[in-house]
Amino acid sequence: MTTKTDELEPCPCCGGEAAFNTTRTTCRETIKLNKRDTGYGVNCVVCGINNRGLVLGYESKALAAEAWNRRAALREQDREDAEITAYALPGGISVERSMQRDGTYLWAVRDSYEHCLSRSGQWDYEPFPSARTDEWIGQHRFSSAAFAIDHARRIEGEGE
Ligand SMILES: [Zn+2]
Repeated sequence: MTTKTDELEPCPCCGGEAAFNTTRTTCRETIKLNKRDTGYGVNCVVCGINNRGLVLGYESKALAAEAWNRRAALREQDREDAEITAYALPGGISVERSMQRDGTYLWAVRDSYEHCLSRSGQWDYEPFPSARTDEWIGQHRFSSAAFAIDHARRIEGEGE
């Protein structure tokens, strides 16, 4: 096995350096269950996350690396999505990222008249941020862009 540390993507949580770890067990139950006494994992040397799992880890370093790098690639996709602040849909509708009071993001669907689409499919007037109640936000904000786009398409599709 010649998988080297430099073939590992940085940590998906903190961007830190990743390293292989090897676990060898003397527990007969574990050996019997896994049909081997050695397992491999990848961990972050900075924040300590580890993909070894609870018992023994992967059968080979290559498998451990593949799992680690797959996770890192997903994280990269999340980052790209996070850079997008709005999606333009046909009919002047836009799905816009909206920062909440706690610093997290939700998504709003707006038309060109500055109305805001609710979960029940109504285009409502949007009050100023300070006047928005939790109930209003619950009705007019979506947890992901994909969910908001899907909802907008469904509502618009029904109107045609
Ligand atoms: Zn880390």
